[in-house]
Amino acid sequence: TAFDQLNLSSELLRAISDHGYVKPTPIQAQVIPHILEGKDIMGSAETGTGKTASFTLPMLHRLQSHANSSASPAKHPIRALILAPTRELATQIHDNVKNYGKYTQLRSTVIFGGTSIDPQIKELQAGVEILVATPGRLLDHIEQKTINLSNVTILVLDEADRMLDMGFLPDIKRILMLLPQQRQSLIFSATFSEEIKQLADKLLKQPILIEV
Ligand code: AMP
Repeated sequence: TAFDQLNLSSELLRAISDHGYVKPTPIQAQVIPHILEGKDIMGSAETGTGKTASFTLPMLHRLQSHANSSASPAKHPIRALILAPTRELATQIHDNVKNYGKYTQLRSTVIFGGTSIDPQIKELQAGVEILVATPGRLLDHIEQKTINLSNVTILVLDEADRMLDMGFLPDIKRILMLLPQQRQSLIFSATFSEEIKQLADKLLKQPILIEV
């Protein structure tokens, strides 16, 4: 498979070509078509497999095809939410979103704990379509009512097993209650424990299972 067989937008293909990627990695070749079709995914892949691009590229594509060109922040509600266990991983994912999305009009930001909340509030107020967050800091924003998740159409849990190991399950459950039922959900996890399967049962609708 080549990238241009995957039906990604020209803006995304241009960013991919800037990176010098020749072809999709195995997880990308398997996952991207399903996400483009709007399917829920339970994916098992380690870091280093190209996992991040496997969800960020089709996510950007889907958001682009329903883009709103208005400059008003009110017209830029959060439409994709990516949860990650740590500040480092959240930052890496956001770097991917920025790099792959650089020729699109989509806006994004990343929020995590251990740093001042005010600059994050300002960024959110300016309007972003894509939010990458660690669960604890996201809940802080929710409690301060500085965030609205009622327009989220794509949810990604990355390194879900690590989030559960770190005790984030109650936080994740509280966040899930604020999301619309009608949405696409993607879970990535290095391992499929009983806990992960239970979370997947709750969260995913007729998921496609992909292991690489
Ligand atoms: P990840 O597993 O998402 O952490 O990605 C691991 C590394 O692979 C990152 O440095 C990516 O930039 C790189 N990468 C992702 N997709 C491709 C691809 N299709 N071809 C070559 N490198 C890639």
